[in-house]
Amino acid sequence: MTRLPSPEILISEVGPRDGLQSVKAIMPTADKLRWIDALAAAGLREIEVASFVPAQLLPQMADAAQVVQHARRHSGVRIMALVPNVRGAQAALTAGAQKLTLPVSASPAHSMANVRKTPEGMVEEVKAVLRLRDQIAPGVPVEVGLSTAFGCTLQGQVPEADVLRLAVQLAQAGVDEIGLSDTTGMGNPAQVQRLFKRMFQEIGPLTGSAHLHNTRGLGLANALAAYEAGVRKFDSSLGGLGGCPYAPGASGNVVTEDLVFMFEAMGVTTGIDLNQLMAAREPLKAGLPGEPLYGMTPAAGLPKGWRT
Ligand code: ZN
Repeated sequence: MTRLPSPEILISEVGPRDGLQSVKAIMPTADKLRWIDALAAAGLREIEVASFVPAQLLPQMADAAQVVQHARRHSGVRIMALVPNVRGAQAALTAGAQKLTLPVSASPAHSMANVRKTPEGMVEEVKAVLRLRDQIAPGVPVEVGLSTAFGCTLQGQVPEADVLRLAVQLAQAGVDEIGLSDTTGMGNPAQVQRLFKRMFQEIGPLTGSAHLHNTRGLGLANALAAYEAGVRKFDSSLGGLGGCPYAPGASGNVVTEDLVFMFEAMGVTTGIDLNQLMAAREPLKAGLPGEPLYGMTPAAGLPKGWRT
């Protein structure tokens, strides 16, 4: 096997969490595990494999602990879990999650719908998770994704000052990484670039991932705008699976295959083998027959002479 050049950006695959929580069908655990194994084989170094929420709310995630325990076998991959609160964090850390991510919505309307707390109430919850982390798993990084950072289907516009104020509060609380999420696919490239630049000014290297949705077809343009603002970490989902069950009209994360194609074609290394990445669509299709998968690169195929 040829050695890939050391990657310049980190692509974090969120399909097994963001993708699966937005589809009605429940993917069988065995298919989930095969899918995660295929993603690891393609060279992904961070995978958000599950959400630790009550099974009656999201039956798709009832096997979260089992999935985390299985995924930990991939030593080169950081296994990440979404947790909405301390109870979820306790369960995720007990299962062996290697990184936690919490959603803090910049839109009070979305925050109430998603977690039944105000944004300030969620900041307090994050502080409680940090205390738990310090006690039982001090080496595990905690990330916050600021949801609806670029707009909210419930509230409409979200003031940039609200996003930045939350980012500063979270940085002061000791969060390791703070990213911006275009949960409802309302962002545009100028806005994405401006807000990420302001994030770097306010919280410097704690600025985390660009979590972009392709709802209006601007996912890749927004990703490039974020890259130009200095972002080096991107969330995306294989086959563009994803959305938010509490944000009407939100659909489709940026497609991992297309994101990798864009960056690799530009000479920005991802560490991901695009052929193996596209092969990882097979276990996804097998586990979710009938679910539409997106992606222009898988549809068109790789150009002649393509080399990662
Ligand atoms: Zn999302």
